[in-house]
Amino acid sequence: MWQIDPDRCTRCGRCATACVLSPSAVKAVHAAAICGYCDLCTGFFRTEAPELSTAAENQLCPFAAIKRTFVEDPYFEYAIDESACVGCARCVQGCSAYGNGSLFLQIRHDRCANCNQCRIAAECPSQAITRVPAVAPYRIKSRAGKT
Ligand code: SF4
Ligand code: SF4
Ligand code: SF4
Repeated sequence: MWQIDPDRCTRCGRCATACVLSPSAVKAVHAAAICGYCDLCTGFFRTEAPELSTAAENQLCPFAAIKRTFVEDPYFEYAIDESACVGCARCVQGCSAYGNGSLFLQIRHDRCANCNQCRIAAECPSQAITRVPAVAPYRIKSRAGKT
């Protein structure tokens, strides 16, 4: 099975358009164990957001695919709506630049056609997509910067 190594991915954006499927089989995933539950989440908010609310003009995701839920002051929980995510990596870039790197991309195997040659792997500029064993089909981050 094909999978993305989140430590090699440079968030170039091609995962959203290079997949043979539309929408892409690549989705943002969230490692809650390493998330800071930040009020000012740089994966959720645009850098120039006028206010920290869930209004569409404040959100980095062009498809409002990240759900923000209040936990307790000052903490918020974030979750990906995979039916809306296209794998564009904008949130991954935002979280990696200023946050803990808890948002990253993975090929979702309930959607992937398991092509003989993954078209994204062929186009990926960082050779971040390789074959992985079917018994371990995901490369989930368990602590910041490591898989
Ligand atoms: S094509 Fe490669 S570098 Fe670009 S977002 Fe996908 S996995 Fe990351
Ligand atoms: S910003 Fe892109 S990768 Fe992140 S949740 Fe939205 S559509 Fe998915
Ligand atoms: S193997 Fe095929 S369906 Fe799966 S991510 Fe790659 S191009 Fe998309």
